[in-house]
Amino acid sequence: MTMIRGVRLLAAPCCGARYAEPRYLSMNFSAHAFWTDGWRDNSLMPNGTALRRCTCGRFILMSDLVEIGTDTDSDLPQVSEVPEEQLPECIKALTEVPVEIAARLWYWRLLNHPYRHKYREHREAEEAATEAAWRAANPERKTLASLRWARKPRPYVRPRNSPFTYPPFEASNEQLENMARLTELLQAGGASHLPWGHELTLAELLREQGRFEEARASLAMISNDQNDYAHKLISKLIEEQEPAPMRYRV
Ligand SMILES: [Zn+2]
Repeated sequence: MTMIRGVRLLAAPCCGARYAEPRYLSMNFSAHAFWTDGWRDNSLMPNGTALRRCTCGRFILMSDLVEIGTDTDSDLPQVSEVPEEQLPECIKALTEVPVEIAARLWYWRLLNHPYRHKYREHREAEEAATEAAWRAANPERKTLASLRWARKPRPYVRPRNSPFTYPPFEASNEQLENMARLTELLQAGGASHLPWGHELTLAELLREQGRFEEARASLAMISNDQNDYAHKLISKLIEEQEPAPMRYRV
């Protein structure tokens, strides 16, 4: 459960501007579905990264703000997120590596949205066709007994080994350029603040660029136990030489 109590009072390191942010006692990260690039569908927590813009115009990270106290409430504003349409401009203006990583990570996920849309439509159409075929093969029998007892129709059960396909993924030049630069920054080791495992993010980035050998090597750096669903799925997709972002539920 996500619980909020009061606010944290924060000061910006660049100009001293003051802000108030909700004080989270606990957070619920459950979502309807997850994607291999770290995006969450219908998430209870915001998907955005820690990238913010101070009132003085500087791009900063939430973690750059200095906590100066707590209160039950405050009239101070929250620190502004960077609107999606400002991201390309923001990325060009950035010079600090951690801020650039946050901006490019977010941009990577945003640029995957059109594919997500195609993927959802494709999956829905295929599942609808599977169900229609099942219903045609399992017609409801209107026997005298079923009419008399008003039996419920047989519930649909998705047949095992039903087709599971998805549209081809072809990254645009813009996507490739962003992914290549983000990979370079992560490989240089500037990713200690990543909420997600650094190597897993890197493996996924490399996979989406079709750099499967390097993706496999990045996964091999992960030493903890490998029961994590995302880890297994990304590993399988690397072996299949599949670059598409993939949706999964846990
Ligand atoms: Zn500032």
